[in-house]
Order: sequence, then structure tokens, then C-alpha cells
Amino acid sequence: MNSQKAEKKKTEISIIGGGIAGITTAFHLAKKGYQVNLIDPTLNSEINNLNPKNGTQASLGILMGNIYKRSKGRAFLLRNKSMKLWKEWLSQINYSETDCILEKPLIKLASSDKEYQSMIELSNNKKEYGIELLDKSSLNFWNSIFEKTLIGGLISHEDGRLNPIKLIKSLMRSLDQIKINKIDKSVKSISKNSNLFDKSWTINFENNHSINQDYIVICSALNTQKLLKSLGHEILLEPILGQVIELELKTKISNWKKWPAILSYQSINFIHHKPNQMLIGATIERGTKPSRLDKQKMLSLNNGAPTWMINAQIKHEWSGIRARPINEPAPLLKQLEPGLLINTGHYRNGILLAPACAEWIGLQIEGK
Ligand SMILES: Cc1cc2nc3c(=O)[nH]c(=O)nc-3n(C[C@H](O)[C@H](O)[C@H](O)COP(=O)(O)OP(=O)(O)OC[C@H]3O[C@@H](n4cnc5c(N)ncnc54)[C@H](O)[C@@H]3O)c2cc1C
Repeated sequence: MNSQKAEKKKTEISIIGGGIAGITTAFHLAKKGYQVNLIDPTLNSEINNLNPKNGTQASLGILMGNIYKRSKGRAFLLRNKSMKLWKEWLSQINYSETDCILEKPLIKLASSDKEYQSMIELSNNKKEYGIELLDKSSLNFWNSIFEKTLIGGLISHEDGRLNPIKLIKSLMRSLDQIKINKIDKSVKSISKNSNLFDKSWTINFENNHSINQDYIVICSALNTQKLLKSLGHEILLEPILGQVIELELKTKISNWKKWPAILSYQSINFIHHKPNQMLIGATIERGTKPSRLDKQKMLSLNNGAPTWMINAQIKHEWSGIRARPINEPAPLLKQLEPGLLINTGHYRNGILLAPACAEWIGLQIEGK
């Protein structure tokens, strides 16, 4: 073993939080050769998005990376990097039993002239990203689905969906293979180690057990603020709820083959995931309790729901909480002190941005 490898093996890093931010950070750092602990009390619970334990399990897993207006700036760079990394990573976590693939493409339909105008602009600027305009003449199928004459839309050939449950299972399997240490406990507090000759940080668990670490990466969504408060770091996050409804369709849809992996219309995402079943999700609500009004809005498609939606029955529904940074852009990627980093505040695009954020953490630890 060369000396750099040996040094990394001695460097112990704890990741607090086993949602997508924590799992991908653990995956990336362990591949780099560090000794990694992933800590989350829910690590051994059954993964099931009908009864989600965290934001990741509740999510739809949509990657809207290329269909993004800007061509520069932090948000663009994170998206661009992540879309490339997901391709690479999916080939590394490809197990037949988990079958995690990027389902493509994504179609977005315009609901106003203004939206269509910005789609025209986007398709002109982002041709090399696999974005194509869908004009009025190509929308016969969608006109029949939504029972109205639509103005236009976009198809993004490289955007799509990673089924979050399959994704978590694949990543967890990889973590077992790279032999990271999973600790299914809740972290009570973090403290700085006063002994200069020892590892700099101490993690204290609910059962009074503690471990000393070289680095801590906090990926604990809303709980991040509580863990950091005693260290004098104020991180402001607010809960934003997302709802998903699984509909059982009673009216037949003529041609499922024309349905893309993701259909986005009126800011609602439609995923046809099983025969005659559709997942719909979108709402953005402050707080932690699902609101009936927002659910109703989603189901009525702003009072323009087609017959198949009106006749459908709700089979399941679930919600999850995302942590939105207050007064700062999401996500929060910071080195707060030497050895203390955060990768959190993932709000809308936590799944999409996970690999680029994990890589950012790796670069800080490597001092680049
Ligand atoms: C309904 C819905 C749909 C969504 N759809 C999409 C989508 O299509 N595409 C997309 O990219 N994003 C989507 N998102 C957003 C995405 O899910 C989030 O951005 C992402 O899951 C955030 O991941 P995270 O790891 O930061 O947080 P979480 O997944 O919430 O994980 C945080 C973890 O920290 C752990 N934790 C907390 N406190 C402690 C502690 N003291 N000790 C140890 N562990 C602790 C928790 O147990 C939890 O497991 C959606 C979200 C929702 C709710």
C-alpha cells in the first residue's frame, strides 16, 4: 500500500444522516479509500416509500438536470456535474436484483404562452443537452390525454427518473461491498476534542456511547441546525412538505408506450409506474403536515383535470419533508471549521444533485 493510500485508510470520517446526501457522500469517500462510518437510526429499517422515513424515501427521484434555463452559475454547475456523475455511478452500482437504471425521457408540456416562449428559448440554447421543442403539431396524443389543445412542450432525452427505493438499495449494497461501517444510532451531540493529539471531533450518541473522528460530515436535513447549535454555528432551515399520490386508473389510456418516464405539466409530475397506476406529485407547502387543499389542487389539475384523473381512485399517498435553507440558496455545502462539513439543505433536487455534492465534500477533505 502506498503512503497516500495508507494515510487515507487511517483518516476516519463520520457521515451523520443516511438520506441520499449521506449515502452518496459515504459512497464517494469510501471509494476514495477513507475509513467511513455512516450514522442514522433508520439504516436498518425496511425501505418503503409508502411509509417514508426520510425525504429521500418519499421522493419521486426525478432528474431534471439538463432541462434547466441557466448555462452558468453554481446551480447549473452542480446539475451539469451530477448528470455526468450519475451515469458513471449507475454503472458502478448496477446489480441485477436492484435493477436501478435512469428511466428516460422527460416531457414537459407548456401551460401558458409565456412558458412556451421560454421553452423555445431553452430548446435553442440547449440543443447539445438533448433538448428538443415539441410544437403544436406533435401534440395530438397529449391533446387527447389532457382533453384540450395544448400550446407546445419540450422533450429532454437525457433527463428522467431514478426510482429512489431501487437507488437506495443499490447504493446500500455497494456500501456493504466497500465495507463502510453502518451505525444505526441517533447522534445526540457533536463536540470538539480538546486533546490535540487525538482525533479532532467527538460524536456522542443517545446511549452515551461516543466515538472520536478526524472529520464529520453532517447530512441530517432539518436536524442539522440542532446538532450545530451547541458549537455556535447557526444554520437556518425550514420544513417544506412534498406529497405523492398513487392513482389507480379506471379509464383506459390508449397508448402507454407514448408515455415518457416523466411527464411534467402545470408543475405536476406524472409517472406511469405500473399497469393502470400513476404516481403524481408536486406540491410545495410550508410546514410538516400535508394540506388537503394542496392535494385537491393537484388532483383537480387546477380545475382542468381530464376524465381519467377525475375517475381515478387514490390507492396510496405519502408525504415527506425537505429542508429548505432560509436566506441562502440550496443546497448548503460548507466547511464550518477544519474537519466539520455540511452537505444538507437539499430541498427540491436532493436526488439530482447528490453526486456533485458528495464530490464537493471529497474535494474539501482532500484539500483541493
Ligand atoms: C415528495 C417528495 C418528492 C421529491 N421529489 C424529488 C425528485 O423528484 N427529485 C429530486 O432530486 N428530489 C426530490 N425530492 C427532494 C429530495 O427527496 C430531497 O432533496 C432529498 O431526499 C434530501 O436528502 P437528504 O439526505 O438531505 O435528507 P433526508 O433524506 O431527509 O435524510 C436525512 C437523514 O438524516 C437522519 N438524521 C437526522 N437526524 C439525525 C441524527 N441526530 N443522527 C443520525 N441521523 C440523523 C434522518 O434519519 C434521515 O434519514 C422530493 C422530496 C419529497 C418529499
